Amino acid sequence: MTEQRKPFDVDTVRADFPILQQQVNGHPLVYLDNGATTQKPQAVIDALVHYYTCDNSNVHRGAHTLSDRATEGFEQARLAVAAFINAPEAREVIWTRGTTEGINLVAASWGRQHLQAGDRVLVSMMEHHSNIVPWQLIAADKGAQVEAIPVTASGEIDMLAFESMLDERVKMVSVGHVSNALGSINPVREIARLAHAVGALVMIDGAQAISHWMTDVQALECDFYAFSGHKLFGPTGIGALWGRAELLEAMPPWHGGGEMIEDVSFAGTTFNKIPFKFEAGTPNIADAIGLAAAISYLNSLDKAGMIAHEQALMQYAQQRAEAFEGMRLVGTAQNRICVMSFVLEGIHAADIGMLLDQQGIAVRTGNHCAQPVMEHLGLDGTVRASFSFYNTLAEVDRLFDGLAKAREFLL
Ligand code: PLP
Repeated sequence: MTEQRKPFDVDTVRADFPILQQQVNGHPLVYLDNGATTQKPQAVIDALVHYYTCDNSNVHRGAHTLSDRATEGFEQARLAVAAFINAPEAREVIWTRGTTEGINLVAASWGRQHLQAGDRVLVSMMEHHSNIVPWQLIAADKGAQVEAIPVTASGEIDMLAFESMLDERVKMVSVGHVSNALGSINPVREIARLAHAVGALVMIDGAQAISHWMTDVQALECDFYAFSGHKLFGPTGIGALWGRAELLEAMPPWHGGGEMIEDVSFAGTTFNKIPFKFEAGTPNIADAIGLAAAISYLNSLDKAGMIAHEQALMQYAQQRAEAFEGMRLVGTAQNRICVMSFVLEGIHAADIGMLLDQQGIAVRTGNHCAQPVMEHLGLDGTVRASFSFYNTLAEVDRLFDGLAKAREFLL
């Protein structure tokens, strides 16, 4: 049976997000910090309350009804994530705390087994620190090198430079699907094809892409994909790592403890099958169930309408930016999500952020945990307005009115 969805209507959708209904510093909140974290619909809050009110128990220890219910909810959530990212199998979905933990898991486990002295790991110049430092840590242990793929002035991966860097010593290419600092959508499938041609694996940091309807791990042809639940309208402290089953099966465990074992003995311990091999200890049950509620909420909305709305927001913001004196957009890639990173001539980003906050407008300022690309572009930071489907055109106006006031005050 095909589900009937109502056409997308931003006012109806906003009513589902209680946090958006408040005043901040005497003004209706304009939340434009979705790149940092997204807000939670009532359905997610209700799922958490329901779980703790009715079902709270430990999972996979099925001695009683509550434990059975918790296990059912937890494993159904894994299925929901698998379907959302089009994973071939749910056992390929490993629960993590978020993107950072997913990348650390692959770097530590796969890297420990496969990297050797002289090997190369390529990441792009515009990565979030979470997709640089885990590789640096394992590379230092193994005598491998982490190298940065250059980025063009408009904030795109320099594909010619990337191709010229590839050789058989490259064992892993790990890139962001979307840059959090610039909003650029990277051509990850093309990157995967080129990397695979020299025998390298491909890890994708999906933190910023996951909420914009572009994650299909099979179509992307990657080997690993990590994302955070809190950037997908779900709770903090939960995320998922997807990996191809044969790779995950061959990788050694990362953390040791309960759940990840099959038999423990001083003569030699054996390990559980995937995904449990990588899920030591009591997992974050409630938040996995909360994440499934977020996915179910998103699936109930009109996807095409949401995408069109986000595009309309971006086009309008772009139009207003072009007419705004002294504004320079940072990251002008052709292919971008609804993120506007910018500087205002003569004004420090932190001052703009503070003056916007006084007007109830939440943005992020600074280097966005992407210090190398900021330095590469000769900047000590930008202001980043990151939109989501619950933002309105009127909020874009509030942002630009707020910026005009800030400029008037500061210049
Ligand atoms: N990668 C990118 C591109 C991000 O934007 C972020 C968070 O902002 C991360 C990784 C890290 O995500 P988390 O802190 O949820 O693990």
